[in-house]
Amino acid sequence: MIETTAETTTATPSQPADSLHLWSQLKNAEDAQAWVESHLQASRDRIADLLAANTARSAVETLGLYDQAAWHLRMAGSQAHVMFMVHPLAPVRDAAQQLSQLVAAEGVKLSLNRDVYQALEALDASSEDAATKYYLERTLLGYRLAGVDRDEATREKIRSLADKSTELGMRFARTVQDDVRKIEVADPNELRGLPADFLERFGVREKDGQLVADNPVVLTTDPPVLAPVMTYAASAALRRRMYLAYNDRGYPVNAPVLLDLLKTREEMAEVLGFRSWADLATVDQMMGSAANMRKFLSEVEHAARETAQREFTELEAFVRNRDPKALPLTLSDARFWEEQFRRAEYDFDSQSVRPYFPYEQVEDGILVIAGELFGVRFSRNKNAPVWHPDVKAFDVFEASTVEANPIGRIYLDMYPREGKSKWFSECSLVGGVLSKQIPEASLVCNFTQPTDKDPGLLQYSDVVTYFHEFGHLMHEILGGQQRWAGQSGIATEGDFVEVPSQMLEEFFERADVLRTFAKHYQTGEPIPAETVTRMTRASAHGRALSTLTQVMYATYSMETHDRRAAELDLDTLLREGYDRFSKYEFVDGNRMYAAFTHLVGYTSNYYTYLYDKVIALEFFAEFAHQSSDKLLTGAVAKRYRNLVLEAGGSKPAKEIVRDFLGRETSMDALRTWIGREFAA
Ligand SMILES: [Zn+2]
Repeated sequence: MIETTAETTTATPSQPADSLHLWSQLKNAEDAQAWVESHLQASRDRIADLLAANTARSAVETLGLYDQAAWHLRMAGSQAHVMFMVHPLAPVRDAAQQLSQLVAAEGVKLSLNRDVYQALEALDASSEDAATKYYLERTLLGYRLAGVDRDEATREKIRSLADKSTELGMRFARTVQDDVRKIEVADPNELRGLPADFLERFGVREKDGQLVADNPVVLTTDPPVLAPVMTYAASAALRRRMYLAYNDRGYPVNAPVLLDLLKTREEMAEVLGFRSWADLATVDQMMGSAANMRKFLSEVEHAARETAQREFTELEAFVRNRDPKALPLTLSDARFWEEQFRRAEYDFDSQSVRPYFPYEQVEDGILVIAGELFGVRFSRNKNAPVWHPDVKAFDVFEASTVEANPIGRIYLDMYPREGKSKWFSECSLVGGVLSKQIPEASLVCNFTQPTDKDPGLLQYSDVVTYFHEFGHLMHEILGGQQRWAGQSGIATEGDFVEVPSQMLEEFFERADVLRTFAKHYQTGEPIPAETVTRMTRASAHGRALSTLTQVMYATYSMETHDRRAAELDLDTLLREGYDRFSKYEFVDGNRMYAAFTHLVGYTSNYYTYLYDKVIALEFFAEFAHQSSDKLLTGAVAKRYRNLVLEAGGSKPAKEIVRDFLGRETSMDALRTWIGREFAA
């Protein structure tokens, strides 16, 4: 990074030409290997420099060598991981998976390197800036939590457990990524209720009041198929088949893999002197401990329970009236009946807004809104290397200057492909360093792809997801201008990372914001403000139920990492969770844990979503207090960019919250948000 030029000029012929982008000229496993190896070597070289005796070196210079070594490792690790998720060639994905593990192992080795720890511990940073002091303090804490001060045999044990966790986690994720289930629909009439453009995509048409197709209809569990089927298909049997297919992904292969992973983590926590993995994984987070997590989840449950009961009672009464045979309501009925309820009670049909959300228009609109809100502009860069022709690269510039140099680059990889990760996520690619290296990051999503004949109309929930992921992206870019690479981008405590994403979601409810881009794809008419009002009112119904669903996932993530692994029964625990938190009946055969990839990344800390929702709502309230013409361009937007996003990981997240709010957070905003539909 910092010495890119030097690296290029001294490159031997075997070294990759583009040291910043793994995907540039990536044709096979060997290319991937060579690129990753060159960064691993660069990292080792910095560490060797750091450990070489040099009395003339300042504390900042020594910390700088460590920072560069870690930057090279992160580059290699994050890009290998992203190629594992997105690369069109299966052999490259296989290699990337292996390489990801290799880099992780190198990272573990560095985290247990006692010489490096001692060299860093000896540094005197007392006269440095606050960010530098915090960086050193946080780095040393990370070393101690990794077990660097244990004896050799213990460190060896930790190393092997960490490597095993990495391997199991990657294996789990890979199985989910490759597992697309297919459902044959023998009678096209089962697709009744689905939107016309959906039917057309599957070659289904109406003839004499019947739905007919020339070829058998095969549905997949990919998000652009799954969501419409669960929301609109009138056939309860079809919905149930789809639900079970989706919630069976990864099963049975992943069940023992998950148990093994949980056991490995438990052992690791034990070796490090913690009661459970959940305690270890929260000790350096805002949350602090598993006990605090338990208390927090119970508070959220308490805040939602009464309203959830009310929502469900209303829904049940509605179904009893419409179709008593549809009772009792199961989890595979939830989305369909909630949609029917909203149509009848709120006069809001979610299909009616889809024509305002053709994919390309949504993308353009979000770029304009984010540009205004964050004071940047995006410029398509068609020369930037990408890993697939569908991927678009944009350079990000400061809006306020005519500065020729970008401050970052983003990539949008937005449609499903075979072998590509099936989820919606944001991924760091290149860590930024102030004045030396611009940050780069990507979205990896699965929206309906527009074609010449099909504008790719999104569901409104898709647009909310787009806002969410874009919030992460802006955090990465605007937080990516730090002195230290290790504090750059999304580098706060892990349980703060869902704040900027969920904060941006809130803008979706503002008619004035939506009307700037949500225009009917045939007439060009902006979405009526009154429709947005109905949409937001309707979508507020069911909030308490979905909050309890989040509490259920969070509890599952906590309990799997807080109980003894040997006594865990994944199915029983799942069933208990649904029985306790969901009002809907459990569907036998639901094994969602086998594809619950958050258990790999977030481990015990799925609570992050709820915890950060509280903060995000309070943050958004600061925006909402202003007059609406100031929403995007007022003083709050500037403060937010400056105090929250630009801070990156340069200070504790609790301090970031206080800087922006001027106070601590409370549960009030969440309570209001949950109960809004029933507020007097
Ligand atoms: Zn997120």
